[in-house]
Amino acid sequence: MLETGVLIIGGGPAGSTLARVLRQAGKDVAVMDKAEFPRDKVCAGWVTPAVFEELEIDLEEYARGRVLQPIHGFRTGRIGQRPVQSDFPGEPVSYGIRRTEFDHYLLQRSGADLLLGQACESMRRDADGWLVNDKVRARLVVGAGGHFCPVARFIGAKVAGETAVAAQEIEFAMSPQQGADCQVDGEFPELYFTPDLKGYGWVFRKGDYLNIGLGREDKHRLTAHVEQFCDHLAGIGRIPRKLPGKLKGHAYLLYPHACRPLVADGILLIGDAAGLAYAHSGEGIRPAVESAMLAAAVILNCAGDYSAPRLRPYSAALEARFGRREAGAGANRQTASRARRLLAGWLLKNRWFTRNLLIRRWFLHTQDRRLPVSGLTASGKHFC
Ligand SMILES: Cc1cc2nc3c(=O)[nH]c(=O)nc-3n(C[C@H](O)[C@H](O)[C@H](O)COP(=O)(O)OP(=O)(O)OC[C@H]3O[C@@H](n4cnc5c(N)ncnc54)[C@H](O)[C@@H]3O)c2cc1C
Repeated sequence: MLETGVLIIGGGPAGSTLARVLRQAGKDVAVMDKAEFPRDKVCAGWVTPAVFEELEIDLEEYARGRVLQPIHGFRTGRIGQRPVQSDFPGEPVSYGIRRTEFDHYLLQRSGADLLLGQACESMRRDADGWLVNDKVRARLVVGAGGHFCPVARFIGAKVAGETAVAAQEIEFAMSPQQGADCQVDGEFPELYFTPDLKGYGWVFRKGDYLNIGLGREDKHRLTAHVEQFCDHLAGIGRIPRKLPGKLKGHAYLLYPHACRPLVADGILLIGDAAGLAYAHSGEGIRPAVESAMLAAAVILNCAGDYSAPRLRPYSAALEARFGRREAGAGANRQTASRARRLLAGWLLKNRWFTRNLLIRRWFLHTQDRRLPVSGLTASGKHFC
């Protein structure tokens, strides 16, 4: 039997961030992940600078031996429409990373005990806390296992009934010939919204890698949408006609539309397990990292009492950071009216709208101050 103070299920950005902050505060922490690392994660790998700052990553050090693609703008439009380019000269406004490298780097440096290649399969309570897989005992179990996190389901997440973003993605190393032929500029990822505005597709070059995908908050006929999108990109010469494999699928919840419980006695959820991705862009890495930081502050404040009432300030901290959820928002939000679609089609051609609202506000979230890292571990009270 392994005994630990905090057991984190899932070693993605949420889990590794929490592990690191708690380890820095002297806590006994283990991370269990069903995968061996480095592992792939279905993702475009677009990260905003705030994430690197909040994670205190030295960009030069990170870039040694890893892909770090600076981004200076985006090309955006609707599928079939001529895209508009928004340039942001100066410091990069985003970066492209490969999740296989990024997540491995974060987990390695977390300092936690790593239980890799072990899926969380069972949880039961005993007098001293939670018993996971009848093998690890922990006072607090944190669910950081992504959208299908077993801990989230254990405390009541109804995954089947949720309206999630369903997405498919492929990332591959281009051959020298493909690289030479590829028209996509790494500094300007391309985003193409679907005609019904329920999602968007992207093509994103990161050094010698090409990442293509599409996500929609509607899983109906997703594969057909993806195929149409890839055909369109191939037709206009943006991607090779023949891709080297099948796209892989995954899902996640947008914050306003998620309603999972967040805490229970000795349990707390972070990252995609809690359903936190930004509504307009689907960016989930920054909210995953920030939720971990907010959770760390609450956990350190608990002084070892992880009862639900002591963990509840975490829910309030999330709400203070990300706003109120749209409880009970029904199918109406799914059906953008024809007028709205027409208006959006026009706006997507408008340079001011595209640059200032779509990119700066909705994608880059430049209006959100970064969470201060320093002081958090010292007091544990920073955000409470
Ligand atoms: C196609 C696609 C593209 C995306 N693109 C972007 C993007 O470009 N930028 C961005 O910011 N966000 C993007 N996102 C969202 C982003 O990937 C997630 O929000 C982010 O990975 C959440 O991090 P996390 O740590 O909460 O979960 P994850 O990164 O999903 O990590 C969860 C971990 O839990 C482990 N796990 C799962 N089940 C178990 C179990 N039973 N036992 C043990 N371990 C388990 C998994 O192996 C995994 O390592 C994208 C999502 C998709 C689907």
